[in-house]
Amino acid sequence: MKIGLDFDGVISDTSKLKSLGAKMFYNLDISAEESTRDIIVRKKKLLTHEQYLELQHSVSNNRKIGLLMSPVRYAIYYIRKLIASGHSISVITTRNGIALEIAEEWFSRKMPEFKVDFVGIDNGNSKLKSAIGLDVFIDDTFEVLEELLGFVPNLYLFLWNYNLEDGFDSRIQRVSSWKEIYKIINDLEGNS
Ligand SMILES: [Mg+2]
Repeated sequence: MKIGLDFDGVISDTSKLKSLGAKMFYNLDISAEESTRDIIVRKKKLLTHEQYLELQHSVSNNRKIGLLMSPVRYAIYYIRKLIASGHSISVITTRNGIALEIAEEWFSRKMPEFKVDFVGIDNGNSKLKSAIGLDVFIDDTFEVLEELLGFVPNLYLFLWNYNLEDGFDSRIQRVSSWKEIYKIINDLEGNS
């Protein structure tokens, strides 16, 4: 099967980076768990919305910090298993420029034995054009998946505390672990 993946929030967990960046750029002590926009901007009012976006941009465009990303739990393990069993994986991300290069470098260090295609989409542009022809797409942003309805048959929202209330559509299934994704893809294959 042709499987498309978002990068941030599906393969990489950038919460630790934001925590590091908050200390480095704003001298704020925020745990990785608390480094969501909702907590930093809305609940605790530690940064303005603009400062938060700046923080996000700084950590993903800074090579030294950027390469310190942690994978989402078991992402690398199960992506490797999927490729080994014959699925094709491509990554479609709204990173571009240096941030995209950092993501590709980080990924190829984690998985040197496989070459995975990365497609960078300019922020604000749809992933649709690049996702056409895929059987599966997984993202942590509801709106991205919504745009793929009718074009990509199997859509999954990777759930975190920050996107639990993002929107609901019965055609977009919610998943909360890579183990679950792996099982779903195997089941899909059994039915096709
Ligand atoms: Mg994402």
